[in-house]
Amino acid sequence: MTDVDAVVVGAGVNGLVAAVRLAEAGMRVVVLEAQHSPGGAFRTEELTLPGFRHDVGATVHALAAASPAFRALCLPIEYAHPEVPLGHALVPGRSVLLHRSAAETAAGLGPDRRHWERVFGSLGRRWEGLVASVLDPTALPPTAPRELVEFGLRGVWPLTRTDARFRSEEARALLSGLAAHAVLPLDAPVTAGFALFMGALAHGVGWPVARGGSQSIVDALVARLREHGGELLTGHPVSSLAGLPSTRAVLLDLTPRQLVAVARDALPPRFAHRMSRWRHAPGVVKVDWALDAPVPWADAALARAGTVHVGGSAASVREAERAAGQGRIPEELHVLFVQASSADPTRAPAGKHTGWGYVHVPNGWDGDLTDAIENRIEQFAPGFRERIAGRHIFTTATLERWDANLVGGDIGGGSVEWRQLIARPRLGPTPWAIPTRRGDSALFLCSSGALPGGGGHGMAGWKAAGAALRRLG
Ligand SMILES: Cc1cc2nc3c(=O)[nH]c(=O)nc-3n(C[C@H](O)[C@H](O)[C@H](O)COP(=O)(O)OP(=O)(O)OC[C@H]3O[C@@H](n4cnc5c(N)ncnc54)[C@H](O)[C@@H]3O)c2cc1C
Repeated sequence: MTDVDAVVVGAGVNGLVAAVRLAEAGMRVVVLEAQHSPGGAFRTEELTLPGFRHDVGATVHALAAASPAFRALCLPIEYAHPEVPLGHALVPGRSVLLHRSAAETAAGLGPDRRHWERVFGSLGRRWEGLVASVLDPTALPPTAPRELVEFGLRGVWPLTRTDARFRSEEARALLSGLAAHAVLPLDAPVTAGFALFMGALAHGVGWPVARGGSQSIVDALVARLREHGGELLTGHPVSSLAGLPSTRAVLLDLTPRQLVAVARDALPPRFAHRMSRWRHAPGVVKVDWALDAPVPWADAALARAGTVHVGGSAASVREAERAAGQGRIPEELHVLFVQASSADPTRAPAGKHTGWGYVHVPNGWDGDLTDAIENRIEQFAPGFRERIAGRHIFTTATLERWDANLVGGDIGGGSVEWRQLIARPRLGPTPWAIPTRRGDSALFLCSSGALPGGGGHGMAGWKAAGAALRRLG
């Protein structure tokens, strides 16, 4: 490796977006990736049987499709939309759908029809301003001040306060499943914000998958990086800043605890101590399936949805998320199920399908829930097991071995309990810039452990690269 302007450690979506932004600005960039292929939690692999391509991590790309970073990069990504973004399995044979249209969704919500249209219809129509406010909250002046204030006032609350305004079991279950993406107990602050944001995205941009798997997004990023002279070295784990080529800026696509492991000597001791106490969210255990046929949902409407929250009632989802936070496995699982091949048939041989399901478990819990997960799906789709041609199981430990950022199975780079949401990893207008002792190269955190947090939007990479460009002039 020759000397470069910037070194990016980790070729996850954030690391790659950062590297591309720097390379496009004319910097000499090298990306060092520990694994033998780039992409981090965006990789797609034949986990089960030949011809079945599984997204190991992110599949549903509402955030990428809406992200200001991806929109600015204009990559050749092809999104495939399921007929309906989301279904929620309430009881066997009965479900509720979240459609692209807020009005169509509201029509299935009985007494909550008006309220849904008023709240979600309005947010969905103004999704661009909403996304700019949520994914780029430090922008000055704010890109969409009205949306920022309106969303902030509604979103800071626990879901349990917001859903009290909805009367139907359908609406309350939908909201609980959406809020559960926060991976917090649903009586925690900001869980309402997750429900509002995820629902508004469904109405605004949909919940598409990437044709060919999420790997196609990674491939497009790597191709763009190389076009601009950037270098990517895989199979290259970094354990200390000392081993890096001489450079003016280092951007770490790592979580705060990994930051301390790699850069301790460069960090002010108090900051290092604070980062070493970064709290992780519950983890996930995940099963990928190769299926001989589509899932035989008892309510056939669920076959139209790309994502199915197999969660039962709102109370059941609430209890499942509470249990994961308290270190327990709940009696009734809330399975987040994705049937990507229904929108993108390239993922399986003709007539066959792929699917995955995960549940939230205590961080680092190293058990196997395959039977329980399949039983839960079987409850809402009798005959599901008979269609399984192959399966692959990820425990929290195997996920972390596959991508070291998934600490204890945490898929979001750290809990989003409110303190870690606003100070991510530190408070201020440029939270990506990491304080260092004098004389070190400029250091940035560009992972989901930095603002705006987890999800496949690439915004932490985009903003960290912007901060690096400003710092280096
Ligand atoms: C099972 C699962 C399902 C998900 N589903 C969705 C979804 O449907 N939609 C969505 O938007 N998001 C989803 N996510 C979240 C999303 O994938 C992540 O938030 C996002 O990909 C994080 O990107 P990142 O670049 O911050 O980190 P990562 O993608 O984790 O990348 C970090 C990279 O750094 C590398 N690395 C780590 N340590 C070192 C080191 N010491 N030296 C060199 N390299 C190192 C890793 O190997 C990895 O390649 C999911 C995640 C998982 C795991």
